[in-house]
Amino acid sequence: MNAFTPVNPSFQTKYIGLAWNNHFHRLGPDFYTALAPQALPDPYWVGRSRAAAKILGLPAGELETDALLQALAGNQPISGTQPLASVYSGHQFGQWAGQLGDGRACLLGEANGLEVQLKGSGLTPYSRMGDGRAVLRSSIREFLCSEAMHGLGIPTTRALCVVGSDEEVARESLETAAVVTRVAPSFIRFGHFEHFAARHQLTQLTTLADYVISRYYPDCQTASTLGANPYANLLLQVTERTAMMVAHWQAVGFCHGVMNTDNMSILGLTIDYGPFQFLDAFDPGHICNHTDRGGRYAFARQPDIAHWNLYALAQALLPLIKDQALAVQALDTFKPVFARTWQQLMRAKLGLAEGTGATDTTVDQVLTDDLLALLAQGQVDYTLFWRRLSQGVASGQFAPVRDLFPDRPSWDAWQLRYTERLTGVDQNQATGLMLKTNPKYVLRNYLGELAIEAAKGKDFSKVVQLLALLERPFDEHPEYESYADLPPDWASRIEISCSS
Ligand code: AMP
Ligand code: MG
Repeated sequence: MNAFTPVNPSFQTKYIGLAWNNHFHRLGPDFYTALAPQALPDPYWVGRSRAAAKILGLPAGELETDALLQALAGNQPISGTQPLASVYSGHQFGQWAGQLGDGRACLLGEANGLEVQLKGSGLTPYSRMGDGRAVLRSSIREFLCSEAMHGLGIPTTRALCVVGSDEEVARESLETAAVVTRVAPSFIRFGHFEHFAARHQLTQLTTLADYVISRYYPDCQTASTLGANPYANLLLQVTERTAMMVAHWQAVGFCHGVMNTDNMSILGLTIDYGPFQFLDAFDPGHICNHTDRGGRYAFARQPDIAHWNLYALAQALLPLIKDQALAVQALDTFKPVFARTWQQLMRAKLGLAEGTGATDTTVDQVLTDDLLALLAQGQVDYTLFWRRLSQGVASGQFAPVRDLFPDRPSWDAWQLRYTERLTGVDQNQATGLMLKTNPKYVLRNYLGELAIEAAKGKDFSKVVQLLALLERPFDEHPEYESYADLPPDWASRIEISCSS
C-alpha cells in the first residue's frame, strides 16, 4: 500500500512572501501526480542558506519564521503553490530501469523563476519500495555541497535549507529524517524525456520538449546551427552545457558517484548529491560510491559517462529530431567542448590566462598531463597541491609544494618546465587567477562527517560554519586553517553508499 498524501483544497493555507507561478503544473497530469508533502513532526532548522533565500526573493526575516519551518517540513500548505511529484524513468548503472519518478521529492511550485522542491518529504506514487524519506546525514551533505558547488562557480541546483526531525527512519541502522529544500530553474532530467519516449507517447514528449525549449532554451526556436530543427538544437545545447559542467567537475576534482540518466539535469546543473566526493589524494580511478563495485562512475570515467547519458537523451529525442545525422552532429560537440573547457580551466589553475605566451596550447596540454601523472603516481592531495602551487607562484617559494611529492626529482624536473613556461607571464596576474581558480576549501568527506556527527547531537554550529566557509572557498578564512589541511587518517576509511 502506498499512502501518499492527497491535496486537500479545504486545508487552511499559509501565506509566505513569494509570488507563485507554477509553470510545470500546467503541463497536466500526464507529467505528475498532484499531492501534498507528508507531515514531519516537531521540525527544527538544521541549516539555512541566506544566499539561496536571496535568489528566490524570499523577504528578509522570512527564513527565521516558524511558519516557513512548518511549511518546508510539509506541515502547512503554502498559499499559491500546487505541489506535485513528477514522473520520469531512466538508465541506472547502464541498464534501463523503467519508471522511477520523484519517489521522495515534492515540487511545491515556482517563484521568481525558480522551482522550489522538497526532498525527503514523504511517500509519492513513485516511491516504489522506499519510504519517501531522506536521512539527516545525506540531507546535510546535499545542502552543503549544493551551496559549495555554487561557491566554486560550478553549475548546480541550490539548497535553501535543511529541516530535521526526531522521526526515525530505518536504513542500515535507525537514523532520523530530514527534508532539504532545493531550488533550481527546473528539476527536469534526461529521464523525463526517456520516460515518454520509451512509452511511445509522442504527444507528451513533444509537449515536454517544447516546454523546455520555450522556457529554458528559447533561442533553439530560431537557432540555425543545426538547421531549423529546434529539437536538434536543444540536444546540441544540452550537450554543450553538460560537457562544460563535467569539465568543471574534473578540474576541481569532484566525483558525482551516481551518474544515472535520471540524475542528469536538462539544464546542465549538478543535481542529486548522494555519495559524491571531492578527491583527497589524486586518483583517476577513484570510486566514491561504495555501491559502485565495477567503478562505472569512477572519477576519470565521468566525461565518457556524461557522453553516454547524452546518447540516451538523443535516443529519446530522436522521434522529434527525426534525423539521425543531426542528432549525431549534436552529440559530436561533446568531446571538443569538454576538451576546450577543461583545458581552459586547467590552464587557469596553472596561472595561464588566455593569451599568455605559448601560441601552441599543446605545450600546456603536455605540461598538464605530465603533472596529473605525477600527482597520481605520488597520491598527492589534489586541493592542497593547487593551493600551495598558487602560493608558490605568489612567493617564489615552492618548498611546501615539493614536500607533497614522494618523488622529489620528478617534481623538480616538472617545476623547471613550469617555471620556464611562466617566463614573461605577469606574476600578479598569474597569482590572482590561481587564487580564484584553486579553492582553499572544498567539502571533503571528513568535514561533512564532522558536521553530521555534531548535528546528530543537535549541535548545528558546524553546519553553519562549513556553509559560511564553502560559500567563499577561495578566501583565506585564517580561523579555519585546519580545514584546508591534509585530511586525517580516518578520512580514507569513510564509506559512502547510495543509501540515503
Ligand atoms: P537516487 O539514486 O537517490 O537518485 O534515487 C533513484 C530513485 O529512487 C528516484 O526515483 C528516487 O526518488 C527513489 N528513491 C530513493 N530513495 C528513496 C526513498 N527513501 N523513498 C522513496 N523513493 C526513493
Ligand atoms: Mg536521483
